[in-house]
Amino acid sequence: MGFWTRVRLPSTPFERVLESVMFSAFFFCYTQGRQNLQVCSRQEYGWRSFVIIHGCKLIRRTVYIKILFQMVTAIIDKKAACVMLEKDYNRNIETNQNIGNAVDIGLYHQWEVINSMKYDYLIVGAGLYGAVFAYEANRKGKKCLVVEKRDHIGGNIYCEEIHGIQVHKYGAHIFHTSEKNIWDYVNQFAEFNNYINSPVARYQDELYNLPFNMNTFSKMWGITTPQEAKDIIAGQIADLNIREPKNLEEQALSLVGRDVYEKLIKGYTEKQWGRDCRELPAFIIKRLPLRFVYDNNYFNDRYQGIPVGGYTKIVEKMLNGIEIRLNVDYLAHRQELEGVADKIIYTGMIDQFYDYKLGVLEYRSVRFETEELAMENYQGNAVVNYTDSKIPYTRIIEHKHFEFGQQPTTVISREYSREWKKGDEPYYPVNNDRNNGLYEQYRELAAQEKKVMFGGRLGGYQYYDMDKVIMAALEMCRKELGNCNM
Ligand SMILES: Cc1cc2nc3c(=O)[nH]c(=O)nc-3n(C[C@H](O)[C@H](O)[C@H](O)COP(=O)(O)OP(=O)(O)OC[C@H]3O[C@@H](n4cnc5c(N)ncnc54)[C@H](O)[C@@H]3O)c2cc1C
Repeated sequence: MGFWTRVRLPSTPFERVLESVMFSAFFFCYTQGRQNLQVCSRQEYGWRSFVIIHGCKLIRRTVYIKILFQMVTAIIDKKAACVMLEKDYNRNIETNQNIGNAVDIGLYHQWEVINSMKYDYLIVGAGLYGAVFAYEANRKGKKCLVVEKRDHIGGNIYCEEIHGIQVHKYGAHIFHTSEKNIWDYVNQFAEFNNYINSPVARYQDELYNLPFNMNTFSKMWGITTPQEAKDIIAGQIADLNIREPKNLEEQALSLVGRDVYEKLIKGYTEKQWGRDCRELPAFIIKRLPLRFVYDNNYFNDRYQGIPVGGYTKIVEKMLNGIEIRLNVDYLAHRQELEGVADKIIYTGMIDQFYDYKLGVLEYRSVRFETEELAMENYQGNAVVNYTDSKIPYTRIIEHKHFEFGQQPTTVISREYSREWKKGDEPYYPVNNDRNNGLYEQYRELAAQEKKVMFGGRLGGYQYYDMDKVIMAALEMCRKELGNCNM
């Protein structure tokens, strides 16, 4: 026999006190009824915190007071915390000194509850890939459990609202695709606005439109016609006379000439990779599209926009009605979790899954410095690239412009590119020969897995735009579940 309820965390101090009194009364009644009691509080979705009470047996009054204290502290601190008692509490309660450590106890005993259930799919990671798979599997009547090590869903497309502004916490995300079916698919979950990405590059005090187009060339050389621009670029390339580019610098110079390279490519690329362009391999830049039209639309795709109200809502809708456990690292609880489902969809890092036994795959990471400013408009554009090597950051994102925000304040994020090391957020895979070879070896290991399937940008060690992640997840759905919602 059990009891399960969810209570939204109250927001005012008065509501919090009221809530604590309510819990107090609830616990008291329940313990008096000599029933087995399990208490757990956790964060979920955009709700700051939930308290879940799941009960069955008896607890002692002293323990009850300790739990109550933990509950109130968790509520006041607005933290995710769990307190769960063992079924066989009588034997353990005397020795269980850990009762003060609510989170540990919660996580430890949660597995008892999970283990008594059986799922068709355990989905590791509540990012876009995991969410698409979970949504489709759920629609097919499959029972899914999603575990996510962060304290929120959404993976890297997660948005956090700050004073009405959707802040792209893990970097600016613009949805763009040429695939009508993917555009229709994602539009089921959100309404998209008509944002068009038109970044601006700042080199010292000069501003240039991106991508490289007639607006850029006109500003750079004071010219007006495409032919003039073509002649200048061709002249610069001919003067350099680079036959076989030996590094990224020579490659870029041979494609766009000296002016565009020095003002708009060199500094930015060196900051991105943390190395001089002459030390970087030529293959990083395969081509540099030059547009001889006055068009600042960065993407060539037919469909583009930003979901009104942010990306998190998309993932929230996808995961609606599906069991999610936040703050749960699959790898830290592998033993408890691997038996709970028939199959596992793993969207974390593939090398970490194998404890890096073949070697470590490399990434570039980014540090975001986010600041709220008491002004309406900081830079007049969502994305400004800083192409001068003396400025330490690569870009400043002003989030409100993604949604044409009219708020009285603004939020900006400076992006600092940096080397990735274990423990950092892995953002961009470094797909050079060494890493691609290593990934292939991991992929061979993965192919031997009976019940684990790898997916997403970390599972596949590949930079995927969002539309490509949705396509890849739907492809996995088709293989696993048959025809899907397209
Ligand atoms: C800086 C940046 C900017 C981008 N901009 C764009 C853009 O403008 N347009 C575009 O289309 N795409 C963009 N992308 C790509 C986009 O972010 C990805 O396509 C998408 O987020 C990938 O989804 P995913 O589910 O594969 O991975 P993720 O979003 O990384 O989700 C994986 C989830 O798994 C969780 N996880 C990992 N390991 C474990 C574990 N052991 N246990 C439990 N949970 C775990 C992680 O915490 C994470 O939440 C950008 C990417 C970056 C890095």
